[in-house]
This record gives sequence, structure tokens and C-alpha cells, in this order.
Amino acid sequence: MKFATKAIHEGHEPDPATGAIMPPIYMTSTFVQESPGETKGYDYTRAGNPNFTILEKVLASLEDAKYATVFSSGLGALTGLISMLSSGDNVVAINGVYGGTYRLFNKVFNRYGIGFHTINHPTEKALEDALAKKPKWLFFETPTNPLLEIFDIAAATKIAKKHGVLTVIDNTFATPFFQNPLTLGADVVWHSTTKYVGGHSDVIGGVAITNNENIKKALDFARMSMGLNPSPFDVWLQTRGVKTLALRMERHQQNAMAIAKFLEKHPKVNKVIYPGLESHPGHATAKKQMKGFGGMVSVEFKLSLEETKKLISSFKLFSLAESLGGVESLVNHPASMTHASIPADERHRCGIADGLVRFSVGIEDSQDLIDDLTTTLKKF
Ligand code: PLP
Repeated sequence: MKFATKAIHEGHEPDPATGAIMPPIYMTSTFVQESPGETKGYDYTRAGNPNFTILEKVLASLEDAKYATVFSSGLGALTGLISMLSSGDNVVAINGVYGGTYRLFNKVFNRYGIGFHTINHPTEKALEDALAKKPKWLFFETPTNPLLEIFDIAAATKIAKKHGVLTVIDNTFATPFFQNPLTLGADVVWHSTTKYVGGHSDVIGGVAITNNENIKKALDFARMSMGLNPSPFDVWLQTRGVKTLALRMERHQQNAMAIAKFLEKHPKVNKVIYPGLESHPGHATAKKQMKGFGGMVSVEFKLSLEETKKLISSFKLFSLAESLGGVESLVNHPASMTHASIPADERHRCGIADGLVRFSVGIEDSQDLIDDLTTTLKKF
């Protein structure tokens, strides 16, 4: 089956009891047992729930993988993953990770003896050298947030494998529709399903996906032991969202490309960053490893910081908000919003300028979005 069909049909059949085409929401904390220890597969929702199983099956299938474990949030999934590490273990990360990811490693798990070492724009040699020190993981996002840098997944995982290092990739920005890191050699993929997978800005969720049975068992154990489970209702909403993922991603990308091309020619724009543009330094790699370029566009305007802040508060259709990947267009100022938890000097070192603006391009009519940009930019 192709992606759009799997997104709709994988994970559940019409309900055998009633014929309901959509799965019921199993809002229950516990499950009655036939006799002590004899269950129908579930005993307590912190450990598992039929709605979790449905979403796990469809998301694993969309990443061409065997196993998935759903969590309360993207960072819940990452917490579950990090709990597989022990004090003294090290993670090598390519700079450009989400601010909350950076915070989780550097302000929480560092206190438990887990080292987090970042490298900027690594050459093959730099990656070789870092992985030769035998960290437990190589960890990165591609495209990154908010600079939309592209890293070659197959090349990086090849080096990691040589050194016996596990590769863990945050695939939130690309989504399984545009990129499947496990098929390129990664060991674990995780998502903030809050974003494109849920797709409607109405739920927080996360998932970790793998082909490794031991990792799947460890993730289920972490969720149960650490209370990282989502609500069955939230998971049901995400299952509903997934069904239109293919359609939405096609439109996100069309609109993002139209806006990137429009802004690239605009006199008040310094630089447009979009992996779909030939001017993007990672365009060739993106073309090789992705089926499309996504819905995120980052822009530096020829405006002062104060003017930039005013501009992004003035749009009609681009709402000023954290998050991304919903049907509606959003605009964000990484330095003061999503990436404020990264110290300023570290932010500047990895290239997040104070004037950088990030657009999450929604699925509205692209001409209306361009009209909003045109009208608002005229005021500056
Ligand atoms: N990964 C990326 C790329 C993100 O943008 C975010 C949140 O913005 C997360 C992970 C964390 O996900 P959540 O907010 O669902 O915990």
C-alpha cells in the first residue's frame, strides 16, 4: 500500500461490535481481568491502551518500521529514549536541535551524568573524530529548527554504524511523508506529533519509532515506569489527524514554495532559507533523501530587531505563536520564543540571528498568504 492509503487504513478495522468506521475512544484507566493476571492485552492505561496501539501501528507503518511507542509529548518521547542511557554515557549532537531538546539534555539529564556534546556543521572528518570517542548516540534533526540545515542521513549513519553508535533522529519537520530516516540507516526516529502528525494545533503528543525489538521494549517500559503515557483522547485526535497527513503535507509544501519564491524577490528581504530553493546549500542532499521540502520557511528581513518584532506582530493570517505544523499559518521569532532556552552566545554560534523569523506555512490559499505578506511589509 502507498502512503496515503496506509495513513487511512493501517491500525484499525471498523469496530467489530458496532461497525463504527472510526475507532472508539477507550477513556478508561483500567481493564477488567477474566481471572488474576488474565487480560485481553491491556491492564492499566499508563502501560497501554487500544488507542495507543492503533496510532502506533499506523505511525510505524508510515516510517516503514516495525515498532512505535506513543508518548505524552515529543519531549516525553525523548525522555523515554534518554532513560535508556546510564550515568557516564555520552551523546554527540549536531547543532540545530529544538530549544527544549537542548534544555532537556543540558539542564535535566546532565545532572544524572549524561554528557551532551554538540558539533557545528560537521565535516565527515569531524563526525569521524567525534564518533571515534564512542558516544552512545549520534543525535540530530534534519531539516533543523529554525535554520533548516540539511544533513546527509545515509552518510552520517554509515559513520555511526562503523563506530557502533546508535543514530537517533528527530523527524518532526520532515514528517514520514517526506523523509524516512530508518530506511536510510537510522536506528530510532522520534517526532513531536503535536506538529504535522496531529496537524490541527489541538493536541500535544510524541512518538518514538524503531525496528529494534529491544528498544521497543525499553520504550514501553519507560512509558509505564515514568508515567509518560498520553491520554487516549489525545491519541485518538492524532489518529484522526494522520488520515489527512499526505494531503496536508502536499499543500504545506506548495504554499511554502510559493512564499519562499515570493520573499526571495522581495526588496525588504535579506535571505530566505527553504530547502526547496536551489539557493539553499543543502538543496541537493534534501532532493536525494527527502520526497519533498516541507512547510517551514525561515527569513531574515532588512529590518532592525525592533522593526522585525513589530512586523511579525502585524500579519493578519500569520499568527504570532510557538509551535508549527498546524493547518493555520504561524510566525515565530526563534531568539525570543522557541530558542530562548539556548544561551545567546550559543544561539549566535550556531547561526540563529536575532533578526531571524520562522514561518510555519499553513494550508490556506497561497494567494491570501502572499497578499498578507505584501500588505504588511508595505508598512515597513
Ligand atoms: N522537536 C521539534 C523539532 C520541535 O519543534 C518540538 C517542539 O516544538 C519538539 C521536538 C518537542 O515536542 P513537544 O512540544 O511535543 O514536546
